[in-house]
Amino acid sequence: MTLDTEKKMGGVPLFPHLPSRLAGLEELAENLWWSWNPGARMLFKTLDRQAWKESGHNPDKMFRELPQDFLEKAASDPDYLNRYDAVMESFHHYMKIKRCGVLDPVCPDRNYSVAYFSAEYGLHRSLPFYAGGLGFLAGDFIKECSDLCLPLVAVGFMYPDGYFRQQIRDDGWQENFVESINRDAAPISRVMDTAGQQMVIRVPLTDPPIHVAVWKVDVGQVPLYLMDTELEINDPWNRTITARLYTGDMEQRLRQEIILGLGGAQMLKKLGIDHYILHLNEGHAAFALLERIRATVSEGKDFAAALAQHIKTTIFTTHTPVSAGHDVFPFQMIEKYFHSYWPGLGLDRDAFLNLGIHPEKPESGFNMTAFALRLSGHRNAVSKRHAKVSRQMWHSLWPDVPEDEVPIDHITNGVHVPTWIEPKIRLLLDRYLGAGWMNNHDDTAVWQRIDTIPDTELWRTHYLLKMKLMDAVRERSRQRWVIGDSGPSIILTGGVFLDPSVLTIGFARRFATYKRALLIFKDLPRLKKILKDRWRPIQIIFAGKAHPSDDPGKRVLQNLINLARDPELGGRIAFVEDYGERLAQYLVHGVDIWLNTPLPPFEACGTSGMKAALNGVPHLSILDGWWEEGFNGRNGWAVKHEENHDDPEEKDAQKIYHLLEKEIIPLYYSMSENSIPHEWVKLMKETMKSNAARFSARRMVKQYVEKFYNKSI
Ligand SMILES: *Cc1c(COP(=O)(O)O)cnc(C)c1O
Repeated sequence: MTLDTEKKMGGVPLFPHLPSRLAGLEELAENLWWSWNPGARMLFKTLDRQAWKESGHNPDKMFRELPQDFLEKAASDPDYLNRYDAVMESFHHYMKIKRCGVLDPVCPDRNYSVAYFSAEYGLHRSLPFYAGGLGFLAGDFIKECSDLCLPLVAVGFMYPDGYFRQQIRDDGWQENFVESINRDAAPISRVMDTAGQQMVIRVPLTDPPIHVAVWKVDVGQVPLYLMDTELEINDPWNRTITARLYTGDMEQRLRQEIILGLGGAQMLKKLGIDHYILHLNEGHAAFALLERIRATVSEGKDFAAALAQHIKTTIFTTHTPVSAGHDVFPFQMIEKYFHSYWPGLGLDRDAFLNLGIHPEKPESGFNMTAFALRLSGHRNAVSKRHAKVSRQMWHSLWPDVPEDEVPIDHITNGVHVPTWIEPKIRLLLDRYLGAGWMNNHDDTAVWQRIDTIPDTELWRTHYLLKMKLMDAVRERSRQRWVIGDSGPSIILTGGVFLDPSVLTIGFARRFATYKRALLIFKDLPRLKKILKDRWRPIQIIFAGKAHPSDDPGKRVLQNLINLARDPELGGRIAFVEDYGERLAQYLVHGVDIWLNTPLPPFEACGTSGMKAALNGVPHLSILDGWWEEGFNGRNGWAVKHEENHDDPEEKDAQKIYHLLEKEIIPLYYSMSENSIPHEWVKLMKETMKSNAARFSARRMVKQYVEKFYNKSI
């Protein structure tokens, strides 16, 4: 890639064929706002359904390929034009609402904003800059900040190779392949400097320095700035620093984090963003803390005074109790990169390295989480239980206070409602919850009106979504079959046998071992009996990727595939490849139950169950993470893990079988004569009423504002 490609350079139109009457479509395509607004999405989709599907719901790509007459036709279709005008008006209105809403008292004249740093963002299938839950949390967070008009800028990476695409070999082993993003056919644009060139920053910790190009994604009102090291000026090792997420090579990973933190902070400076509240979404970007301190030290303060000045405006969110989620770098590696940096902070070697020491394991290296916890004035975990676990984990940083006073608060995660609610469910709610419900969707009272939806309507909508899910799964199998490189049995396990009239359980998440995807197979004869029941069978759809270097995770996946293709299980187990945003949407909308079987306390929060609940899909889960707060006895099922039992895993599985046999299956199949399972629909309604508002990103962002942002200024 070179810098002189013409995309979005100097006013060259992106979509040269767009009729002038529809010129706004370009503007719309270049702001992800369209992705969470069904009216806008329909404008693209109705140009041509097949082209839309083919493009992977990527307007940038579609417009490059769409024949001219499709566009001309739309430009002369009064119905299309009416919809177009309405969408453009609402987009312009949305973009004009003044930012600074919640931070009003200070931000207009002090030019304050929140800088949100995250190593990944899950925004849309056309931008594969995520690996899993952390990314979707960040994506949902910034979308909600836009909806709430918060003055926030986001910082992250442009990963041209994304995470990885997953394909299952005939022997059940996961293969990874890379599909690089086409920068010219994605909703990203170059940030230009005053000389009319793409902005490039230099991160000087290495010799030669690393050059980083700056891109931008417009997420409603929130600009997300992305850094990209694939520049000719960089040597090959430096060029690939930002090629993909979470490289296994520790040194390259440290270099990534240097770019994210120090590079990100320098980038903000170059963009003219000087005064900001710094919010670190996980420890990867923690080096960003240093740049503000360094600037203050260079004005004559000492380190302690500079830290004291900035710590009040620093928020750190920790996301996992799993140790692999906390980066620890060898001291020599830190020394290699930072020896020329720490004098600028007024620190010597030991003082610098001490910032990242874990008091219980001082020899283990420079711990990014310990570092971030020490240098941030506000710290939080992502659920109530996770905060308790985190206080225990990090007590040694605050040895003088009792464990329950360790200053780690909690804000439970939430999901962006407009992104995750299925459009047909949304239409139903529009009809029954009253106009403007979406504006108050974090108010539990709004959702109580769900009781006025006739059972028939909710059930039929759900059933339709279930059929859509199965159609989508079958279509994937067909496409896989056509490639011709796999035997029939692997194709059949992809979901070809799914039956919409059968109770369907969904399980989709990363294949990390603590997520225990195989728990439900613990007592195979008992599970077979449940799956193959002649009158009331069930089926389970699995999806998820194992991290490329996680062989235990890949073995779990392989076992699962081999179970799925055993005819003894009745063809009732499906594994759908390549879990990502698109498949997640189908699954959380279309299954009957969302299953989660983590080993407590490792599920810090979990968000996929919230997405399902929002669409009326009840949760069946081990009590951990958010479910300890979400379960009320009427909105799904909870299994308490008995840690001290002889075989706690066996016990967990038995409890799940028992629930299935005695409660869940009878309830599901208790149809009345008009084929509506009224008791089940009641459960669906309770699920939405009790969880949708409480686990919305709106509730979450408002809490960040009240607890932290407003206290920082
Ligand atoms: C929501 C989501 C996740 C996170 O789900 P968890 O329940 O937190 O594991 C991961 N991947 C995708 C594609 C998602 O949409």
